[in-house]
Amino acid sequence: MTSLGTAENPLRVAIVGSGPSGFYAAQHLQKQLGAGVQIDMFDRLPTPFGLVRGGVAPDHQTIKAVTKVYDKIAADPTFRFYGHVDIGTDITHEEMGTLYHAVIYAVGAQSDRKMGVPGEDLAGSHAATEFVGWYNAHPDFRERQFDLTQERVAVIGNGNVAMDVVRILAKTYDELKGTDIADYALEALKKSQVKEIYVLGRRGPAQAAFTTPEIKELGELADATIIVRPEEVRLDALSAEDLERNHDAMAEKNIAILQEYARRATSDTGKLRPPKKRRIYMRFLTSPVELIGTERVEKIRIVKNELYVADDGSLRPRATEWEQTIPVGLVFRSIGYKGVALPGLPFDERSGIMPNQQGRVLQNGAPLPGTYCVGWIKRGPTGIIGTNKPDSIESVEKLLEDLRAEKLLAPSRPTRAALEALLAQHKTNWVSFADWQILDRIEQAKGMAADRLRVKFSRIDEMLKALAERKGIKEPSGD
Ligand code: NAP
Repeated sequence: MTSLGTAENPLRVAIVGSGPSGFYAAQHLQKQLGAGVQIDMFDRLPTPFGLVRGGVAPDHQTIKAVTKVYDKIAADPTFRFYGHVDIGTDITHEEMGTLYHAVIYAVGAQSDRKMGVPGEDLAGSHAATEFVGWYNAHPDFRERQFDLTQERVAVIGNGNVAMDVVRILAKTYDELKGTDIADYALEALKKSQVKEIYVLGRRGPAQAAFTTPEIKELGELADATIIVRPEEVRLDALSAEDLERNHDAMAEKNIAILQEYARRATSDTGKLRPPKKRRIYMRFLTSPVELIGTERVEKIRIVKNELYVADDGSLRPRATEWEQTIPVGLVFRSIGYKGVALPGLPFDERSGIMPNQQGRVLQNGAPLPGTYCVGWIKRGPTGIIGTNKPDSIESVEKLLEDLRAEKLLAPSRPTRAALEALLAQHKTNWVSFADWQILDRIEQAKGMAADRLRVKFSRIDEMLKALAERKGIKEPSGD
């Protein structure tokens, strides 16, 4: 038998999840093995690209353009996409072991972290990730309701997701119309009564997680003013020392921008300028301690924090006696995503990732043969899209080492025919990459007709129906 990983005896690899980390893993396998690999990528949704489609803000189209790279990876003859197939349900993890020499989990972080404060579960209190999924037409969040008749909103957290949520809440209809925001979200936001948005960061401006372009954008909105308190963006002694030591150029730029916003607010006072419809209050060193309300959120109680040096040398927040209550009718917690366990596979509940060593999944401390992870389920929900490339290369390199050491799985039926025979039993309406391209064209055509970038499908049954209609028949999909 010719050696595994050659055109005659290709290495069969499954990638579970079709976001950036999955695609970069596929790309590295293609580069290293050429025709010696067959890659089957699965997604439980009929549409590929993970958070690029369902997470990246609709007004950030230049970031979304990265899918052109993924299209090229998908066009390679080594690659197949099997959308609308849920690994663990439609095909079990045990069955995967009979079909593939290696499985790479690229499932991301599908839940969110909670604040752990009283009142967090009141109506009107939401995870930012739900709102993000909703305005991005993600089928899981399509039916969520957000009461946009409320005039005051709090967004908790100082990361880029918080910035996205604030921008989408603060932008005008005209600013959003040309994007690919979900059509129902565009209509709901058009009627939004939101006037005041409080962004609550628990540490100071020097420790904020948002990046410079994102904080800059908040100062450039058509009908929203950003308001920053000068005393909250003045650099304290601990932060100044920390910045000096770590040469954090991004934090320095962020602070300069925030200080400019603070000056803007002061110098604007008394000027005859038509007031903007919305105000964004950026508050620092504040933590929510309670959401208050009877039926739904009516107020948020916050404390003022001070910074102290923790044992690991980082600057952490500590509550002071000072408290304030702000009337708000909507709260979005934007304090980070969290990974979800895959049934039957190792998972570290505390950190929300699959335990792993450079991408090799570990079970009881030892590598689980032929099982790898990449992206947020490997390292946690950090970094930008590009961070995933070296991260995925690292995991694939470990897989290739194991290939050379003959430590991969020994599947009994390592062929696409065997996979598709199994799918024919369990999941007849799976979606190929060619099918997705049909959906893509329909979305773009609908967009053109509405003078928009695209009008997204947001329901799985509508996607499947559109595909069946295009093909003229209701039959199992296939490339
Ligand atoms: P993130 O960057 O980790 O930010 C989380 C924020 O929540 C931090 O400000 C954190 O403060 C705060 N936080 C955590 N626990 C808190 C608590 N109990 N109370 C109050 N605040 C709390 O996470 P993210 O915004 O979800 O973004 C996830 C990743 O996606 C990031 O790497 C981000 O850069 C990336 N992303 C990028 C873009 C873009 O490039 N445009 C857009 C969206 C997301 P501490 O720092 O004090 O912990």
